[in-house]
This record gives sequence, C-alpha cells and structure tokens, in this order.
Amino acid sequence: MAAESLHEAFEEELKDILSAEKQLLKALPKMAKAASNEDLKAGFEEHLEQTKVHVERIEKVFKLLDKAPRAKKCKAMEGLIEEGAELMEEDIEPETLDAMLICAAQKVEHYEIATYGTLATWAKQLELEEVASILHETLEEEKETDLKLTELAETGINAEAEA
Ligand code: FE
Ligand code: FE
Repeated sequence: MAAESLHEAFEEELKDILSAEKQLLKALPKMAKAASNEDLKAGFEEHLEQTKVHVERIEKVFKLLDKAPRAKKCKAMEGLIEEGAELMEEDIEPETLDAMLICAAQKVEHYEIATYGTLATWAKQLELEEVASILHETLEEEKETDLKLTELAETGINAEAEA
C-alpha cells in the first residue's frame, strides 16, 4: 500500500518495527548463546526481556489507533540478523566473536533508534501524545542498550579480542 499521508506512513512504519522486534525475539537468544563474555551474555538476555515489552508497547499503540497489530516483514532487520547469524557459523575465536556480536547488535539498536525516533516525532506531529510517550520509552531503552554495548566493548571485550 502506498502511504498517502503521514498517518498512513506512521502505520506502515509501525508494521515494520513490529516485524523487526519480533525477528529480534528469535535472534537474541541465539546471540546470548553465542556470546562467551558473561556480561555480554547477560546483556543480550536482559535485552530479550525488554524486547518482549517493546512488542507489547507496539501492540498497545495499534490498539490506541483502533487498528489490528499487523507486522510487515522488515527486510532491513532480516538482513542485519542474517549477517549476525553468518558470524556465528564461522570459525572465529570466542573473544573476537564477542567483539563482532557487539558490532552486529549495535547495528540493530541503531536501526531501532532511527525508527522509534521517527515514529515518536511523527506521533507528535499527528497529535498522538500518548502514543508518542510510549514510543519514547522504548526509544530511551534502545539508546541505553546501545550505550551499554559500547561500554562492554570499551571496558574489556575489544582488548580481549585484540589479545
Ligand atoms: Fe526493541
Ligand atoms: Fe533493541
């Protein structure tokens, strides 16, 4: 469907991020399993729990709009996850794999940050205040996750990968 107004564009993008989050629900446990560093493993597990809430929030937004929560396959997330999955199949030193998993995860977070940032701004423009604040909550959690990943990389994982 061609988006003809900001309202329709908003709904289309909401379907995209719902698909993206649902794909992540399946990918995060695999990333946690593949990670060797305990903090990184725990970080992926924690973000899995947050991601479940992100899906619920999107469903709530659809409800507020009086729409059924339909997902439309997010090809970008599919590609990002595919790249991460390829890493896990390769024969890489565990410490190096951890550094690369952080890279893959940060690409995912940045995709989400871009989408939620846009959606929150559009919701404001459309005067959907409650929707905007729900989307903002998730946006902040994605930003925090990104920062935590940077911290993990800088406080040991990158150095271990180098050694
Ligand atoms: Fe999320
Ligand atoms: Fe996320």
